[in-house]
Amino acid sequence: MALIVQKYGGTSVGSVERIQSVAKRVRETVRGGNTVVVVVSAMGKTTDGLVGLAKQISPNPSRREMDMLLSTGEQVSIALMSIALQELGQPAISLTGAQVGIVTEAEYSRARILEIKTERMQRHLEQGKVIVVAGFQGISSIDDLEITTLGRGGSDTSAVALAAALKANLCEIYTDVPGILTTDPRLVPEAKLMDEITCDEMLELASLGAKVLHPRSVEIAKHYGIPLVVRSSWTDEPGTKVISVMPKPRPLVGLEIAKAVDAVEFDTDQAKVALLRVPDRPGIAARLFGEIARQNVNVDLIIQSIHEGNSNDIAFTVVENVLGKAEAVAEAIAPALRSHPANTQEAEVIVEKQMAKISIAGAGMIGRPGIAAQMFNALSAANVNIEMISTSEVKVSCTIAQDDCDRAIQTLCEVFEIQDSPMCANPHNIALESPNAPPVRGVALDINQAQIAIRHVPDRPGLAAQIFGILAEKNISVDTIIQSQRCRIVNDNPTRDIAFTVAQVDAEMARTVLEALALQTGCGEVKVDTDVAKVSIVGSGMVGQPGVAARFFEALAKEQINIKMIATSEIKVSCVVTEEDGVKALKAVHEAFNLAK
Ligand code: ADP
Ligand code: ASP
Ligand code: MG
Repeated sequence: MALIVQKYGGTSVGSVERIQSVAKRVRETVRGGNTVVVVVSAMGKTTDGLVGLAKQISPNPSRREMDMLLSTGEQVSIALMSIALQELGQPAISLTGAQVGIVTEAEYSRARILEIKTERMQRHLEQGKVIVVAGFQGISSIDDLEITTLGRGGSDTSAVALAAALKANLCEIYTDVPGILTTDPRLVPEAKLMDEITCDEMLELASLGAKVLHPRSVEIAKHYGIPLVVRSSWTDEPGTKVISVMPKPRPLVGLEIAKAVDAVEFDTDQAKVALLRVPDRPGIAARLFGEIARQNVNVDLIIQSIHEGNSNDIAFTVVENVLGKAEAVAEAIAPALRSHPANTQEAEVIVEKQMAKISIAGAGMIGRPGIAAQMFNALSAANVNIEMISTSEVKVSCTIAQDDCDRAIQTLCEVFEIQDSPMCANPHNIALESPNAPPVRGVALDINQAQIAIRHVPDRPGLAAQIFGILAEKNISVDTIIQSQRCRIVNDNPTRDIAFTVAQVDAEMARTVLEALALQTGCGEVKVDTDVAKVSIVGSGMVGQPGVAARFFEALAKEQINIKMIATSEIKVSCVVTEEDGVKALKAVHEAFNLAK
């Protein structure tokens, strides 16, 4: 007999008829000899409706009252679902997050789960009842018993956390699409259903805009090795498996706040090529990386910073023994990018040898902006200058001088309490989870992003730490962090620009705190652009495969789409484009990688 946690989303319980049909499915699962815990979302668009009501009264309602309000949506569905099950003759009981004992931090609107008490659930299950649990909500344990919510889309996280706490055999997420597709089928109808995807790939896709799973639910599945499936509420098709390698056992206390960083990784075989002042127009990145791919040179990190006037900087890293080849390609292309071939002030190539990459990795850093800031802080305290930064949901990597590498490893292992010896970053480790992974598993679009740039940040250790520290204090998550390659002398001091993206809702808060910091530290202007979209490709098979990024850039160039920023991690490439180009870019890229059915 298996213990199964089944979660049904808003559309799946959007009407009385749908609740009745879900109840039938649950009863069938019980008849198949299984014990079932059901997690439900609020009916249809109820949560949006409740948000709308509050907004009619206040533009900025308190987070406590919002949690009080939004948690009511799920309470309606659990009662109706339990009534529907009882009507079918299936014993059932509905329980709120508090009644179950889903204990969270006292952080309204984004609480993390600390622990789930299972005694009461065990008792009901032994009596042969189906338990119907309200998703998305919990209760804080300190002082007052406060109702909290986990953040929009958080019912997935409730379900996987319950599966972990109950040591369930399976967690099924039922939704209004057949499973996880190569991209959002509402935007690209040709999107194809996947049989499986790794947790790491899904983490990236989910946080880059694919809302089919709440990223934190994937983090829990990865940490506790929960078999997780996403499938349709309307059919019996098998859906998509989210797979992971069996993790080390971990305690169930501190469920979502366990250690943020699992490993420190390094790679001392890196060199950097930067092209400064390339024209800001469609097709430049495609040309450069297309040629590099034709030379069969594999690039690791790629970044393109915000443009100054009408030019950009593009930088990338390669392993040292192909530096010559990469530099030759860049040198050969540079003159063609100048307004006058002799004007070497434009499109200048610089290379730097003997670089190293140092990374912190761990699924626990998702949605915890303080972790990257902590890394930058530790490096600055150890007097290590950061050359390039690349972030993914589960990793932050910094390119530094080779000579600094040992010091950086030591300080990061101390700060993040890593006892295991640091791992040499090895592409084969990534391939382990899914040996036959395609270079691109899926593509995602996020139109709720804003691009922020701080001009003329004095180039001294510690300023990046300060910038991201102050954002972390306000709980603002940052992605796609890029430091310009160009150094500009302002009042005799070398300065660089730093750009990154944040969620649009955080943009104004970020502007306010950064403007204050800029005044204090002598940085220049803070620029906020909310008219942007982020298009990303994700796949563990892109590791060590030349030409994947080039194909992405070529697809955008063909559509005459200008790239505002580029950032990569091992298993993803993201481009920031104007919001207007977002959907067009998504479609072009989906097609370029032959992902359609
Ligand atoms: P639920 O209410 O069941 O939790 P959501 O609306 O939160 O459903 O998530 C399902 C939706 O996610 C789908 O309707 C689809 O439009 C969207 N989506 C975005 N990206 C993807 C993807 N790669 N695969 C499947 N669905 C996706
Ligand atoms: N009802 C909540 C929301 O819409 C939680 C969920 O559906 O997962 O965000
Ligand atoms: Mg959802």
